[in-house]
Amino acid sequence: MMDGKEYIESLRKIKPVVYYMGRRIENVADDPATAPHVNAAALTYELAHDHRYEEIMTARSHLTGEKINRFTHIHQSTDDLVKKVRMMRLLGQRTGSCFQRCVGFDAMNALYIVTYNVDKKYKTDYHERVKDFVKYVQKKDLMCAGAMTDVKGDRSLKPHQQADPDLYVRVVRKEEGGIVVRGAKAHITGAVNSHEIIVLPTRALTEKDSSYAVAFAVPVDAEGVKMIFGRQTNDSRRFEGEIDCGNPKYATVGGEALIIFEDVFLPWERVFMCGEYEFAADLVEVFATFHRQNYGGCKVGVADALIGAAACVAEYNGVANAPHIIDKITEMIHLAETCWSCSLACSYEGIKTPSGAYMPNPLLANVTKLNITRFPYEWSRLAHDIAGGIIATMPSEKDYKNPETRELIEKYLKGYAEIPTEHRIRMLRLLENLSMGSGLIESMHGAGSPQAQKIMMLRRSDLDKKKEIARVLSGIVEDELHKKIRPSN
Ligand code: SF4
Ligand code: FE
Repeated sequence: MMDGKEYIESLRKIKPVVYYMGRRIENVADDPATAPHVNAAALTYELAHDHRYEEIMTARSHLTGEKINRFTHIHQSTDDLVKKVRMMRLLGQRTGSCFQRCVGFDAMNALYIVTYNVDKKYKTDYHERVKDFVKYVQKKDLMCAGAMTDVKGDRSLKPHQQADPDLYVRVVRKEEGGIVVRGAKAHITGAVNSHEIIVLPTRALTEKDSSYAVAFAVPVDAEGVKMIFGRQTNDSRRFEGEIDCGNPKYATVGGEALIIFEDVFLPWERVFMCGEYEFAADLVEVFATFHRQNYGGCKVGVADALIGAAACVAEYNGVANAPHIIDKITEMIHLAETCWSCSLACSYEGIKTPSGAYMPNPLLANVTKLNITRFPYEWSRLAHDIAGGIIATMPSEKDYKNPETRELIEKYLKGYAEIPTEHRIRMLRLLENLSMGSGLIESMHGAGSPQAQKIMMLRRSDLDKKKEIARVLSGIVEDELHKKIRPSN
């Protein structure tokens, strides 16, 4: 297993093509635009070496028997699923950010489960290829990005109906040794600082779309792969100083990129689906279930940091004991722990798949994520209420450091007398960082937008059974159970 330093060093050795703000990023590990994201991902490596967290951060490979980083594991039990979300809450607390490594982890588990079923039907050997890839990832302790969301063009049209056929990633030709793919994937978390990209289809597909039914893994620096790193709220503060960043070491969100595949060649051993369009929906659903499971872990870890920041700000403002402040903090705790309960529940209710690997309960995983599209807005609202308007009006770090204005800021932004003004400024900036901007959008749309969760919840909730329950209770249908306890009626 690599540690954090070794992971950062490993990134210095690869040269993916990454653009940002009109320039090429030559060194993802050290560029100020990407380094905070790298640091957050590095903690997924570093904490695996901390004996306090060994049980949740590491696992035993079912393929090799070796001790591995849990982010490369294929879940073998519901206990593994529970440990996964515990690991995510821990990392959310330690980074106050998205640590990115979960998407490839989930993509790998989804492929493991679904390729088993594809092979059963078509006598293909995708599952063995996935196993070999998993062993490779485990051995080298690699970080994989998971790339699912296509750019989609006109949303009312299927992939093959688009004016431009490249708006969903597709196979453009098959060659003797493999396939050539073209297209682009959007919003891909952690892409620029991963070693590999795992690509999955983004939606259910029909026969006419079979060239879009493609799954594969490709090194980030393979020929033809280009990335454009996205902007985030307040990202340019990274180039100005430290305090105004709020969470300067670890950023806020994952660091997402648009990945473009310009006729990229993939050898067959890296291809995990090629034309089996009727399994695309399964792959999407299994992947989404895994990723929706996570959000009551990682986002609640970030909420722990925000609740802590809100409580500190209240203290620094001298209002920690005001009953309405205590009530708001308690509400934030309730919201966060509700989401945590959902993540735990879908993990404990996990199911064994025919492949032998476990996945979370899909209905409950979708409930988890739907709550995350709402509750972070509410706990952020409460944090803003507690903090006061100063989070939107505070002078900059540059003014704080300017000798002409420093003393004025020191004097007039002082809160509770015992607390240095700088601590108050830092805490307010952290609160701003954790509660505004790109992190909230991530809660809304990461792992799928709310409507996607509603569709899956409805499909999984067995509405017919609920209707039958109502028919029996209302007396429309005979109540067999009641007849047993009151035979005379
Ligand atoms: Fe992991 Fe959460 Fe980031 Fe998704 S949003 S990659 S689950 S930390
Ligand atoms: Fe995400």
